[in-house]
Amino acid sequence: MGEDVERLKRRTPLLEYLRQHNWAGRPAGRFEYVGLCPLHKESQPSFYVNARKDVFYCHGCGQGGDLIRFIQLSRGLSFRQSLASLDSEIAPETDSSAVLEEAATFYRQQLDRYPEALDYLDRRGVHDPALIRELDIGYAPGGMLRRHLTAQGHSFDLLRRIGLINARGADALCQRIVVPLRQNEHIVNLYGRSIGSAFAHRFLPGGKGGLYSWEKVRNCSEVILVEGLFDYAALRQAGLHNVTCSLGTQLNQDQFRQLCEGERTVYLIFDADQNQSGQRAAGQLVQRLVTKGISARRVLLPEGHDPNSFFVQGGDAHQFQSLVEAAQP
Ligand SMILES: [Zn+2]
Repeated sequence: MGEDVERLKRRTPLLEYLRQHNWAGRPAGRFEYVGLCPLHKESQPSFYVNARKDVFYCHGCGQGGDLIRFIQLSRGLSFRQSLASLDSEIAPETDSSAVLEEAATFYRQQLDRYPEALDYLDRRGVHDPALIRELDIGYAPGGMLRRHLTAQGHSFDLLRRIGLINARGADALCQRIVVPLRQNEHIVNLYGRSIGSAFAHRFLPGGKGGLYSWEKVRNCSEVILVEGLFDYAALRQAGLHNVTCSLGTQLNQDQFRQLCEGERTVYLIFDADQNQSGQRAAGQLVQRLVTKGISARRVLLPEGHDPNSFFVQGGDAHQFQSLVEAAQP
């Protein structure tokens, strides 16, 4: 029972739950948020949420506690009823998360069997076996996923709905390097990088979740933000640990919020592509962060480089660090 409660709470942080139910809170400290109390009528915000401790307290009505307590109070349910309600509310997600987990395992097992996949990783400078394991990198050779997953008892419909296979039953990520995107330990999506001429980046339907591996850096006072997973991998492999990735130059609301929670300096390194879209996006993001009181700087790489190519073409962590230190506000 106790374990179930902890598992349920881990799956749904209180702050996330409140936001899903339209609670609007603003940051009020490193891990605190304040907003109007959903449990009593008020016009001045006195409802505080501590995102780190995963608890709330209202100075107006004096109520406080964890997510389960909140559900009890807001819906007038018993402890057990609240657990059941929470469980059923998030059940559909775990359903797809479990299938994504099996698909990711399948892809991971394929990686070593396909030289073209390993060649691609090599070309992108990703060769540290520990990092490949940590990122859970796999390969979708195409043609076998559907049989594998239906043999595990998953219906064709479910696989279609999640987007793992297309209407003809073919693997949607065929001939792509696959990296699972996790949130609170659970896979929320899969990223597929084409190793051939197909459209480079693909995600399954649905959101890409928060910033990549945010839990590892959320307490860092300086965070390096890159746009691509192969940039992320290159920096990690070079020994930099305070790195995260937005999987594109446009941050979603969750990702932007994560950067804004707590005091820190964010170093942005987006690709210096020819049409300048990456640099434009970086400039806009710096402005948005600054208006939220976050210190943000743009790191400029040598002409025509992204963080991945910088390292692939022989750059080292020391040179990179000098560029970070030279970053402009
Ligand atoms: Zn209250």
